[in-house]
Amino acid sequence: MPELPEVEVTRQRLERALVGRRFTVVELRVPKLRLPVKADLADILPGLTVRAIVRRGKYLLFDCGSGWLLVHLGMTGYLRLLRGSSPPGKHDHLDFIFDDGQLLRFHDPRKFGIVTWFAGDPQLHPLLATIGPEPLTDAFNGTYIHTVGKNRKVAIKQLIMNSAVVAGVGNIYANEALFHARILPDRSAGTLTLQECTTLAATIRQELERSISEGIACRVAEESVSYHPQVLKVYGRGGQPCPDCGDPLEESRLGNRSTVFCRRCQE
Ligand SMILES: [Zn+2]
Repeated sequence: MPELPEVEVTRQRLERALVGRRFTVVELRVPKLRLPVKADLADILPGLTVRAIVRRGKYLLFDCGSGWLLVHLGMTGYLRLLRGSSPPGKHDHLDFIFDDGQLLRFHDPRKFGIVTWFAGDPQLHPLLATIGPEPLTDAFNGTYIHTVGKNRKVAIKQLIMNSAVVAGVGNIYANEALFHARILPDRSAGTLTLQECTTLAATIRQELERSISEGIACRVAEESVSYHPQVLKVYGRGGQPCPDCGDPLEESRLGNRSTVFCRRCQE
């Protein structure tokens, strides 16, 4: 599943290629992804110019002047940027063609993605209005986690994966950040000290930034703007030796998500 770093890497690549470009044709080949795809996108977009591409959580927002194109990659979506015409393959649901011949193609086998148009302030869109602060901004810090977690019994891992608390911290990054912060994933949020929360905010930021810079450095996926390989300390390594102490990493389910941790290094 594309997580915040993949979406940010995609945003940066699309920004370089598409800002200042004008939509000429939109081809819709599917009536519905996670939500219905409005047929009038094909009438609205042609003639509009991409002014900016911003990210909110895992949403890409294309500023088109008179409104915003909102794109979410869902579980299996990705965007490919092609030059010139190219016949669509299976699961290629939408094409956006630009005045310089570039083609932005939305591919999504499981159809959990979202592509929609919004004429107002995108922060007020129902899908975006309830998202918590961005983890890479100063609004997200130890004091914030400490305040939100106060007196809460919920596991800290589930708290930081709740998008109403903080935008876009997915399972991989929650596992990695908690390992680096030396905090057990199932600790009740209310038991964390302010110092632990400050460390955790920093490790979440560090893990997301590490992944974003690895994604930017990864030239292999230049055309298919999406997933990049990365070196992880704990995620996907249950049963293998802890990279710090050598004890076997434990794996369990927490909130039905794979959770890997070291009982000796984390407390
Ligand atoms: Zn360890």
